[in-house]
Amino acid sequence: MIQIYVILLLVLLFAVAILLSYRSFRTGARYSIPRGTQIYGDLVSEGQTLRSNRYALTGKPDKVVLSGRQVIPYEFKSTDAEKPREGHMLQMGAYFIILEELYPDKRIPYGILRYRNTSFRIDNTTRIKSAALEVANQIRNNFGVPTRNHHSSGRCFKCSFRDNCVQSLIR
Ligand code: SF4
Repeated sequence: MIQIYVILLLVLLFAVAILLSYRSFRTGARYSIPRGTQIYGDLVSEGQTLRSNRYALTGKPDKVVLSGRQVIPYEFKSTDAEKPREGHMLQMGAYFIILEELYPDKRIPYGILRYRNTSFRIDNTTRIKSAALEVANQIRNNFGVPTRNHHSSGRCFKCSFRDNCVQSLIR
């Protein structure tokens, strides 16, 4: 009799495990989260900021996933978009630069930019990284950069260019 209870308990535990993993799979698919092990993001990194010492860039992507030998940044924006916005592309370019410095033995082939209504795969190209570095340089030298149009220290806190920016609200 006890054996039957043990078997029933094992079957129940197995069913719960399958259900949990299915729900996690569906959540990932719905939000276009890459499959793999999350190595950065809420609950994993405790608000830590990622940093490129070489280029004085910082980043706080919403998630970074390790999938085999690939490291994939993921950024969620709570607005709709029909195409990736330029500022968000630059932010992703900064993430590529930072992650390449932090994980020199891994590949960072692309990142996911997720908007409320859709998501985009952003390829890691020399062009996008050069554009991010160009903006960092402009901000550092304070030329060609518009005056800050907000008072949100939270935006500056998440901004990849804050170490270069004389207008940053974070010191
Ligand atoms: S003002 Fe803030 S958000 Fe704007 S570029 Fe500077 S650090 Fe980034």
